Amino acid sequence: MDHGAHLRQNTRSLAAEEILFREGESADCAYIIEEGRLEITTQSEGESVFICFLEAGEIVGEMGVIDSAPRTATAKAADPTRLTVVTREQLTERIAQADPILKLLVKILLDRYRSGLNTVKGESPISGDGELISEEVVGEYIHHGIDKIRLEAELKEALKQEQLEVFYQPLLDVQSRKVAGFEALTRWRHPSRGQISPGLFITLAEETSLIVPVGLFVFEQACKTLVEFQSQAGSPEIPIFMSINVSGRQIADPNFIDHAAEITSRYQLDRGQIKLEITESLAVDFELTERWIEHAHELGFQVSLDDFGTGYSSLHTLYRLDLDFAKIDQAFIKPLDDEPRSRELLRGIIRLMRGLGLRIVVEGVERGTQLDYVTELGCDYAQGFLVGYSLNSADALQLLEDGPDLETDAL
Ligand code: C2E
Ligand code: MG
Ligand code: MG
Repeated sequence: MDHGAHLRQNTRSLAAEEILFREGESADCAYIIEEGRLEITTQSEGESVFICFLEAGEIVGEMGVIDSAPRTATAKAADPTRLTVVTREQLTERIAQADPILKLLVKILLDRYRSGLNTVKGESPISGDGELISEEVVGEYIHHGIDKIRLEAELKEALKQEQLEVFYQPLLDVQSRKVAGFEALTRWRHPSRGQISPGLFITLAEETSLIVPVGLFVFEQACKTLVEFQSQAGSPEIPIFMSINVSGRQIADPNFIDHAAEITSRYQLDRGQIKLEITESLAVDFELTERWIEHAHELGFQVSLDDFGTGYSSLHTLYRLDLDFAKIDQAFIKPLDDEPRSRELLRGIIRLMRGLGLRIVVEGVERGTQLDYVTELGCDYAQGFLVGYSLNSADALQLLEDGPDLETDAL
């Protein structure tokens, strides 16, 4: 049979009784049954044994494509049958993109299927060569997959055991040179792995529904701290604000924003002093995000676009979403001292944001020269190691009282 022909055409028709593939042949594509019926049989002790009929909507021949083992059964059209051909490349691409745990699952299911079939047939195991999921790679999947599952269970426990701690990084009011607010940044003090960065565990929490309780925990802590900061520093006219990160999963959760509003009511906070930071990469579901921002505004929250300029569709995002603030990513601040063109780029971005009525925050300010330049460009707030690192609430309060040291560069 010319299997190569299957790769060049994506449908195939069989007359009744026509053979699709025979046991023992090499496998380079699978088929989805569009119409008709296939009879699947296998050889046992020289006899043909009926296994099953497969009907429209089912897939056939995928196992051999995944592990490159020969066909373990014969497929024959029971009625006139039409098939869509699934090429090896189409399967390979999808498997390559899959989550490591799913890859591991496919491998395990395939191994079980093969050994089950061999037991039925009384044969020794057939092994494929050049499997799409090799043993070597499987070792890595097991390592990563299991590690991830373990970490997920530990994160659940961490919430209960209060291993998550919220730190506060100051934001400077560029004109008055005073600390005007803070961003809540979460840390995980793991009992044996040490401090785990939010980049790692927030992503893990986002992949599961854990981001919902983690997000509410952070929100509550940040509100509690804000009450303390407002009562001890700032003034009733210019109260301290708090920026809180909100991930895409939290935006998609229909209850998060209302729960957040309940928390602020419990702490009697003015929601205008809370800025919800959304990341542009996650603001890709425009309609959902647009409605969410509208609801956040009705409740009185402010909304800020985080990490502006690092994802895709950034200008489009800026223009379509009803944002109060945009935070320009640190990638635009880092080269300011050394690359004159980066200064022009930042000047242009800021002019554009102003034109759209946005207030501007810059991230990653580490040197006095960078602060001077963003002051000249009229940014509203500056955040970065020059102003201060992420601090626990006691140290953050101390910084509020003492004021930041803007004379000493961070690097
Ligand atoms: P982000 O919201 O953009 O936070 C700013 C990150 O830049 C923080 O990293 C901060 O420590 C770092 N940073 C601030 N100033 C400077 C500077 O001058 N130089 C340099 N090199 N870095 C600076 P961190 O704390 O590791 O947080 C990473 C990301 O994790 C955050 O990025 C945020 O997207 C996410 N994240 C943190 N906490 C939470 C949380 O509670 N919920 C959610 N959804 N995301 C969170
Ligand atoms: Mg942020
Ligand atoms: Mg950011």
